[in-house]
Amino acid sequence: MLTNLDIMIAGAGLGGLAAACSLIKAGFSVRIFERAAKLGEVGAGIQLSANAMHVLDYFGLGEQVNELSVQPQAYVFRLYNTGEELQRFALAETHFKMHRAPYNQIHRADLHKILAKRVTELAGEGIIYLDHEITSFHESDDQVMLKFKGHAPVHGDVLIGADGVKSLVRNQICGEVPVKYTGDAVWRVTVPTKKLPSNFQAPVMAVWMGPEKHAVSYFIRNGEILNFVGCVETEEVSEESWTARFPWENLKKDFEGWHSDIQAIIDLSERDQCYRWSLFKRPVVDNWSTQRVSILGDAAHATLPYLAQGAAMALEDGVILSRALSQESNIERALKVYSRNRIPRTRKVVNGSDANRELFHLRDIEEMRNRFKNRDQGGYRNDWLYSYNPLSVELF
Ligand SMILES: Cc1cc2nc3c(=O)[nH]c(=O)nc-3n(C[C@H](O)[C@H](O)[C@H](O)COP(=O)(O)OP(=O)(O)OC[C@H]3O[C@@H](n4cnc5c(N)ncnc54)[C@H](O)[C@@H]3O)c2cc1C
Repeated sequence: MLTNLDIMIAGAGLGGLAAACSLIKAGFSVRIFERAAKLGEVGAGIQLSANAMHVLDYFGLGEQVNELSVQPQAYVFRLYNTGEELQRFALAETHFKMHRAPYNQIHRADLHKILAKRVTELAGEGIIYLDHEITSFHESDDQVMLKFKGHAPVHGDVLIGADGVKSLVRNQICGEVPVKYTGDAVWRVTVPTKKLPSNFQAPVMAVWMGPEKHAVSYFIRNGEILNFVGCVETEEVSEESWTARFPWENLKKDFEGWHSDIQAIIDLSERDQCYRWSLFKRPVVDNWSTQRVSILGDAAHATLPYLAQGAAMALEDGVILSRALSQESNIERALKVYSRNRIPRTRKVVNGSDANRELFHLRDIEEMRNRFKNRDQGGYRNDWLYSYNPLSVELF
């Protein structure tokens, strides 16, 4: 068993903070180096199915997350114009009974804040180094050195790259991976619930699907906010960033002819708070680790968000990583165990998300109806996705 390891984490996003909690709880010493000058998270809603909630429960955050979230009654798939329901599967009590943890929808900023607080509660102040942009790492047989812009280098036993889709740590391990535009851009707006007509939408996870587009709407922050995400196929490539603002009029135009509920959401959203993120694809890498360095979260397995599992995978990664380091007596072997256990599952999520892109955007509505008739979406996800518990799954 490895003890007294000094582990350095690149990035204080949801993945880096969650990995820190797992590693600290397993008894390791952790430092997190974050490029931003201020801790925080941009974006709005995020969904946390039972596989992610097991991890937050383990951190002692389950109750807090439940209180800040909305537990949707069901996942509902609808047609874009008429609202015709093509399928639904139960969440809420059904999800809890099946998987022993709830399905939550929360504001990203709220989740990030409680994770950052938990890191400090577990390890004390001063382990998160802000304004520390990593420029490279150098690995030898007995340590890893991290170099920064404007700061002296530091050394540790292990480096974990949780530095997001454009990961420098991944690129140094695997070489620069090719980046390809997916053809999709994602709109994000929110609406305060009090602005919506009463009984506007039941507390469900609604997926609206139509030719070349789909949209998702659900409540967050204890029901105070409606989160809207609109995914559109477009040749207009823009920034891969949650802070890129776009004219509200373009959003309105993209969803012309869609259901009156979608029109109401767009009309009531704040016009100067309209964001659009272009989605890029990176090949799934299968050499995550070197002797002392590995990657997790989006750095390792960036995915389209169409199964709502990117952050959930990052949370699972951190637990499996800490279990692998705890059970092995050699760092390189532990990192191999970690990646061997994570690659098949995260690849399945990436492939499943790609498949949803095709399904949700079908041009032929009759085909869409048939595809939903022939596949139980809930059964499929409950079977392998939501049922996974990283704390108890057997490692191989
Ligand atoms: C539209 C959309 C909806 C989504 N919905 C869901 C959902 O419902 N459920 C879900 O589970 N997931 C969802 N996801 C995915 C989820 O947001 C991501 O998978 C998750 O946030 C990734 O976290 P991360 O910590 O790996 O990366 P990031 O959040 O990108 O964090 C990386 C961190 O590293 C820092 N960093 C980068 N480079 C350096 C450097 N050189 N030096 C130091 N620090 C550095 C960055 O500043 C950042 O803080 C969604 C994604 C999108 C786009």
